[in-house]
Amino acid sequence: MSRSAHPAGPRHADVLPEGHYSAPPTDLNALDAKVWSRTATRTPEGVLSMGGIEVTRLAEEFGTPAYFVDEADFRARCRAWRDAFGTDADVFYAGKAFLSRAVVRWLHEEGLNLDVCSGGELATALGAGMPAERIAFHGNNKSEEEIERAVAAGVGRIVLDSFQEIVRVSHIAERLGRRQPVQIRVTVGVEAHTHEFIATAHEDQKFGIALAGGQAAEAVRRALKLDGIELIGIHSHIGSQIFDMAGFEVSARRVVQLLAEVRDEHGVELPEIDLGGGLGIAYTSDDDPREPHEIAKALNEIVTRECAAANLRTPRISVEPGRAIVGPTAFTLYEVGTIKPLEGLRTYVSVDGGMSDNIRTALYDAEYTVTLVSRRSDAEPMLVRVVGKHCESGDIVVRDAFLPADLAPGDLIAVPATGAYCRSMASNYNHALRPPVVAVDDGAARVIVRRETEEDLLRLDVG
Ligand SMILES: *Cc1c(COP(=O)(O)O)cnc(C)c1O
Repeated sequence: MSRSAHPAGPRHADVLPEGHYSAPPTDLNALDAKVWSRTATRTPEGVLSMGGIEVTRLAEEFGTPAYFVDEADFRARCRAWRDAFGTDADVFYAGKAFLSRAVVRWLHEEGLNLDVCSGGELATALGAGMPAERIAFHGNNKSEEEIERAVAAGVGRIVLDSFQEIVRVSHIAERLGRRQPVQIRVTVGVEAHTHEFIATAHEDQKFGIALAGGQAAEAVRRALKLDGIELIGIHSHIGSQIFDMAGFEVSARRVVQLLAEVRDEHGVELPEIDLGGGLGIAYTSDDDPREPHEIAKALNEIVTRECAAANLRTPRISVEPGRAIVGPTAFTLYEVGTIKPLEGLRTYVSVDGGMSDNIRTALYDAEYTVTLVSRRSDAEPMLVRVVGKHCESGDIVVRDAFLPADLAPGDLIAVPATGAYCRSMASNYNHALRPPVVAVDDGAARVIVRRETEEDLLRLDVG
């Protein structure tokens, strides 16, 4: 995103201050289809509607702040991923992006599998009827109890993350009279974030077992000797919000190289590789994500080519998109409160939520856009920073954006692309009540995660 100051149309400054923004948009009422969910549109009166329901009605019925998820869009994205990868590959939705029982049902109905990384996520998945064999269990520090529950439930795979865990899972499975299918998570020496990937310092992290120095080969050696586990493949996850396929290319090449080494040493061709998730989405108009079919084509080509070169049968591929499925399907609706113009700087617009419902801006310097959605405005653009109501100056929802200069308390504004890592990372900071998630589809709106109440908060505080 452009970081240069832009001279056009500011209300409170002749030259705009430093920030992460491009020029003010020519039409503040326009909705960029890239960052909004499929059914989002403006009525002739200028009110945002999604799934056929206007946000003014949604706000009346469900209050603000609230997350609204476009169920048709979520399902369409599931189908796009499943169809792109076809029947020779598996798509695992990464539940940590956002998980609820309704989401589990949608995934189940649309034929996706599910990644979980805690006992709580596992309980949600099983409780909502996801067949255990379609669940993968991840994590760098799974507890004995979590492993027991996963093995006893019969999860399709456990992704092993350390030497200790190889032994731990095997022992638990033996004790339960099972042979647990497992993959080993390796670090391939590439870490990808946003637009570039870095090929140094990547092994210096808590996840996985390094390919470098023969660590991963040693892990395979040990895993193949144990009776409680059945090693079915190798797993690699290289980062998040990735647009460039080059990182996946290096990752796939190195994983295939390990498969070839395993074949040479043990005479075993491991049948699966998992290339992880991390595929990027458009948070702002400057982001250009790939379509699932392009990603599937690129990954299939890379793996097929590398396997042919190594004279290996092409393994079954799996991928684990989280953000790329749920991220674009939801927006957060806020009501505008205090508006504070700072002469020569920008206007601070306070909303009724903040870092408790979207920590990504504070945590990762994430970028978002924001739009006035309760009415049309033809006022000139003003540079704003949308901030929350928490006692923290880093409580920023949207660092730099333009809203119409006639913005007033009581207006509704929406931040799109908040489906992933917003509700799932929400907190009770300042005893905020975590917002509800409302599914909207075809003229009907339904709460899938209800708003927290003060009673919920006080119930945990046993005095
Ligand atoms: C977080 C994670 C994902 C999903 O990442 P997204 O950026 O949401 O696609 C997939 N696999 C693993 C192992 C992860 O840790």
